[in-house]
Amino acid sequence: MTSPGLHERIQAKAKRIPPRYRSRYLKAMDGGSLRAGVDAFCAECMGWEDLPDSVRDCTSPLCPLFPYRPYHPKHRKVELSKARRSRDAANAQDG
Ligand code: SF4
Repeated sequence: MTSPGLHERIQAKAKRIPPRYRSRYLKAMDGGSLRAGVDAFCAECMGWEDLPDSVRDCTSPLCPLFPYRPYHPKHRKVELSKARRSRDAANAQDG
């Protein structure tokens, strides 16, 4: 059950978010992606400013989202590993 006017309130809030980050917020509010929710929460925590540096350089290690925040070096390592696997698979097919 959604509260009355929730959709309109979400849209109104989205308009106050810098345009380049609106889709991130709306994706989070769709409820289909926990990752989008964490990303948007951290971005909002930093006032949607100076991203990605502000979140990457977050100085609140006791925050429960700290290990899961976007741009965390650990996530970058995973992303690089995925990219490397994709590249290796492509090379294996070529060669
Ligand atoms: S991890 Fe940092 S940026 Fe993310 S919500 Fe917590 S304090 Fe804010």
